[in-house]
Amino acid sequence: MITVNRLVKDFGYNRVIDGIDATVSTGEVVVLIGASGSGKSTFLRCLNGLETLTSGEILIESTPLERNSKSLKQIRRQVGMVFQQFNLFPHLTVLENIIEAPVHVLHQPKKQVIKVAQELLAKVGLSDKQNCYPGTLSGGQCQRVAIARALAMHPKIMLFDEPTSALDPELVGEVLTVMKQLAEDGMTMVVVTHEMGFAREVADRVIFIDEGKIVEEGPPAQIFGNPQEKRTQAFLGRLS
Ligand code: ATP
Ligand code: MG
Repeated sequence: MITVNRLVKDFGYNRVIDGIDATVSTGEVVVLIGASGSGKSTFLRCLNGLETLTSGEILIESTPLERNSKSLKQIRRQVGMVFQQFNLFPHLTVLENIIEAPVHVLHQPKKQVIKVAQELLAKVGLSDKQNCYPGTLSGGQCQRVAIARALAMHPKIMLFDEPTSALDPELVGEVLTVMKQLAEDGMTMVVVTHEMGFAREVADRVIFIDEGKIVEEGPPAQIFGNPQEKRTQAFLGRLS
């Protein structure tokens, strides 16, 4: 569970997150939508402890996410993040990429971690690729490895920042399928995406952000079918 209270984030004089209140329940899938520059990535980065907060607070499983606190590292481990660019280590095989952090950061026994990694590779449909290098995989396969790598840390929450935006159109589906499966398994997820089909089908709630504020939120059927706010209508109108 995530609780966000009165979150403000400035970059210099630029107020990028302007007083966001939000909660994400355990097992909930929230999709964030909004125009370029509206603050979606910054919001996710705040949730993952990657940004200092100007004011307000974020609680992860009721523990405050405080920068410089000893617990920050521990809390951050509970929050997995997948980016548009998969950032795999090119000199490591698929399996080595996945076991890297559990072995070297969490100091878990290698044998056990390999077993978990192989289970995760099966889950994302890449069992046959464990000894391949990222450079030999497609973008969709790389992104599925990136998801498996994040899951190997056993996060309680997964954040996705436009995970399919860098992919060729024909590769988008395979990544969304993995994310959908994860949602069905009960993972708590916050997803920034332009894939409105995914949002309609998988999201419990859609949040529309504009200029660092939540303008409107609700179940996908309501946000897409009957948006109440002019700015939501205009944004969705531009997409269709
Ligand atoms: P997009 O859809 O293009 O990814 P976004 O909604 O994710 O956009 P953000 O990346 O959160 O938007 O950026 C919001 C605003 O914050 C932008 O004006 C951006 O220039 C600014 N910003 C983001 N990161 C920084 C930074 N590290 N330093 C200064 N300004 C930043
Ligand atoms: Mg962004």
